[in-house]
Parts: sequence; C-alpha cells; structure tokens
Amino acid sequence: MAKQEDQFKKVISHAKEYGYIFPSSEIYDGLSAVYDYGQNGVELKRNIREYWWKAMVQLHDNIVGIDASIFMHPTTWKASGHVDAFNDPLIDNKDSKKRYRADVLVEDYVAKIEGKIEKEVAKAERRFGESFDKAQFLSTNPRVLKYQEEANGILKRLGQSLEREDLADVKALIEELEIADPETGSRNWTDVKQFNLMFGTKLGASAESAIDLYLRPETAQGIFVNFLNVQKSGRMKIPFGIAQTGKAFRNEIVARQFIFRMREFEQMEMQYFIKPGTQKEWYEYWKEARLKWHHSLGLGEDNYRFHDHEKLAHYADAAADIEFRFPFGFKELEGIHSRTDFDLGSHEKFSNKKLQYFDPEENKSYVPYVLETSIGLDRMFLAVFSSALQEEELENGTTRTVLKIPAVLAPTKAAILPLVKKDGLPEIAKKIVDELKWDFNVDYDEKDAVGRRYRRQDAAGTPFCITVDHETLENNTVTIRHRDTMEQSRVKIEDLKSIISKETDMRYWLQKCEVTA
Ligand code: ATP
Repeated sequence: MAKQEDQFKKVISHAKEYGYIFPSSEIYDGLSAVYDYGQNGVELKRNIREYWWKAMVQLHDNIVGIDASIFMHPTTWKASGHVDAFNDPLIDNKDSKKRYRADVLVEDYVAKIEGKIEKEVAKAERRFGESFDKAQFLSTNPRVLKYQEEANGILKRLGQSLEREDLADVKALIEELEIADPETGSRNWTDVKQFNLMFGTKLGASAESAIDLYLRPETAQGIFVNFLNVQKSGRMKIPFGIAQTGKAFRNEIVARQFIFRMREFEQMEMQYFIKPGTQKEWYEYWKEARLKWHHSLGLGEDNYRFHDHEKLAHYADAAADIEFRFPFGFKELEGIHSRTDFDLGSHEKFSNKKLQYFDPEENKSYVPYVLETSIGLDRMFLAVFSSALQEEELENGTTRTVLKIPAVLAPTKAAILPLVKKDGLPEIAKKIVDELKWDFNVDYDEKDAVGRRYRRQDAAGTPFCITVDHETLENNTVTIRHRDTMEQSRVKIEDLKSIISKETDMRYWLQKCEVTA
C-alpha cells in the first residue's frame, strides 16, 4: 500500500515537473479537484482524444460526431433523471438550521489533525534549525505518525461508507468524532440525506428574468436531444452512432485522487442507436471493441478487467466497467451501458416531440434502443501517464526515470540534439527541426552533455532522440536513439521522417487492434 502511495505521489510530482498537469490557480493555493494541463499535458490529451475519435468516428462509416453546448435547456435534466437522482450526502444542524456537506465536516475534522502535524513540524524546525530533515521527521516522529494514522483511518471509513451509500454510518462517524456545527458548536444533527451533484448557474442579464441552468454533468444528453437532427440531416440508418467529446461538471464529494475524480472533466462518449431487441449483441460487440482499443496501446493487457454492474442505474438493462490498474488499485476507466429506450423515450414525454426512427425494413417507427460507451479523457490520461512512469535499473548500476508513453500519444515525437554547440552542428540540427516540424512535434535541445539531454527526454516521454555529430558533416547521417530500448543506430537524415512516422502513425497502432471490425 505504502509503495502504491509512493508511486502515486511520484506520478503527481512528475506530472507537474515535466509540464503535464498543474493544480488550478496554484498561486492562490489551488482549487480543490480542479487541474490545468501544461504544455506537454495538452498535447498528450489532444493525442488521446484524437486516437479515440479516429477509432470511433473516422474508422466507422456509420458513426458521426457532434459538438453540443455545455448549457442545455433545464428540462433536459428532468427528463434524464439527473434532477431527481444524481445525488450525494448532506446534513443539517437542528439547532442552527445550517446545512453542511457531511463529508466536508469530516474532512475539516481531518484537516485539523493535519494542522496539528504542521504545528509539530514547525516546532521541530525551530528546535533543530538547519539540520532539520522534514521528510525523516514526518516518517519517524511517533506523535506525527499517530495523527497521520488517525487521519487516514477516518478518511478511509468515510470513503467506504460513501461508496456503500451507507449514510447512517456517515452520520455515526460524525457523532463518534463529536463533530460540532463549526458556527454554533451544536452537535444536534439530522440524518444524512442525498445532495445533487449538478452545478447550478443562471442565464440572463437581470435577476428577475434569469433562468436556472445546470452545467452538464455528462455529454450524453447533448447527443440524445440531437438524435433526430443528426439522423435526418445525415440520412443515418440504424444501427448508427453519434460521438462527442467535451467538458462535464460534477460537484463530487470524494475528490482526492488527482485527475481521477475532478469537478470539471472531459468525457468521450458514443451513443449507438439500435433496433430494440438487438441490445445484447451490441453490448457484447462494444465491450470487445472498446477493450481492443485499450489493448492496442500496449499498456499491458493484465492492467484491464471488466466489472459487471449488479446494481443497475435507472436507465440501464446491462452495464459493465472497463477497470484499469491505477496506482491506487483497479478502478473504473470506461463504462459500457445498455441504456434501452429510456433517454429518448423520456425526452419524448418531456418535450412532446416524437423521437422515433422509421425503419424501412420493418416498415414501422420505433424509439431506438441505445448502447453507450463512455470514457473519461482525464482518467485515460492518468492510465497512460501512471503506467508509463517507470524507474529502471541500468547495467552500469545507475537508474533512469523514463516515461514510456506509447509513441503514438507522446507529446513530442523527437528531440534533435547537436553533440556540441559548435562546428556547424547546431545549424544542421536546426535544419532537421525545420524539416520535421511540418509532420511532428519536435524539440531542439543543445544544453548540457548529451547523456543528460537523453535522460531529460526520457523523463519527458520523447520516443526518439536524434543526435547530430561530426560524422554528420561527412556523410549526412545521424544517430537515432529509442527511448524504451536506449538502442542507437545510424541513419540517413532523409530517412528520419519515415522512421518516425512508422512508429508514431495512428494507422500502425489502430490496425493492431482491428477496431474497425
Ligand atoms: P464513478 O463511479 O467513478 O463516479 P461514474 O460511474 O459516475 O464514475 P459515468 O457517469 O459512467 O461515471 O461517467 C463515464 C466516465 O466518465 C467514467 O467512466 C469516468 O471515466 C469519467 N468520469 C466520471 N466522473 C468523473 C470525474 N469526476 N472526474 C473524471 N472523470 C470522471
């Protein structure tokens, strides 16, 4: 467990150090469960999105994309069931009549324990002066360890009760810890109730005319409300799919796992409209197709498993998650849901508009059934990034940190390095950059010894390093070094483009998994 936590901490700090992910508004101490993607992160995210889009839209002649708005008519969320059933726990104080998030009360209690740890650190810092080793103190001081254990135990129990939807235990925890209303000190609590996860906002210039809206908690509804628009304008025949990527917002309670659970995140969803009665076949088809897509990236097949839902959502007649082995264990990465005709049927009722398809083969109209694949882009990012980060022992006894991001997704495909900063080598290296940049993201680096530059590129995830040396002046060849094997070979400058293409081209990767089947 401690090893897993260490690995997770390394992932978070590496992501920051190498420009992948920063806490949001960090200069103001950040915003909980909100993150920004840096210069490398934005490229990796773009490449994952593109890899998904190509597999789903471009390679399927019966799947098209849309880009619906984040704001939707508020009735959408009544019809979808989110207004009534998209909830988390809330507690009221009977004396003060104040309302709190049950989990936040417990988290604040834990924060106080953490405050005590900070006080111990400050005290010890004063006592030991310059020789103070904070890391060692945190891992050995008995009082700090006791506080830490207490804090971890409370958070664990809270997480487990929420996971089980055991609201009575959340209340019991609050009572056992003797948590009082922060404003009045009263411990007279109501039972814990559910709290809706949607973020509300207002549309309109004046308070009187403003209407209440929600930030969408999923992208799927933008597809359902456009079902007929796309079907008619695209003359689509069932079965057909509509895909979309975009932001979704949830006021999450348990939001302590970096980009695994964010309050603002991005989804990549596809709704596949099918004939009622064929849902079982399509469910199996999409489970397999999606797993193949994951396997095509080579992150290790034993890092994935299916988890079939026993407790089904109100809209589903079958559902499974593709789980991934994250640094904190196997957790949901993607959901495959057989949503029946719940959504279109419900939008028909609420809108009083027919949302049906005329099937020329059956010579009748019906509300199609829907098979959905829904994956979090940020979670996919975390899957790729966390499994890519490795420490390797080398033959010479040293270790190297390497980010083995699949070459097809790597932010920078190649770094061009002049061996020395003279003798015309930088000029040739820059000419190579100028040529390759039309096809790939490439980097130029001339600072430090070449060995250090290799390490830097390994840690940043760059699959190829191309070194220009004195032999280049004689015969127009360079060395190309592969990140994963560290093998080097001598190649002609004119062959670089095709060598890099071969290993970074989406065609090469996607063909491996036959997702077009
Ligand atoms: P969980 O059980 O982890 O809360 P969910 O079952 O609510 O997830 P869905 O509503 O099925 O998730 O959403 C589909 C996908 O969107 C999930 O598989 C996940 O990859 C992603 N996702 C959902 N919530 C978040 C979040 N708060 N942060 C990042 N990604 C998310």
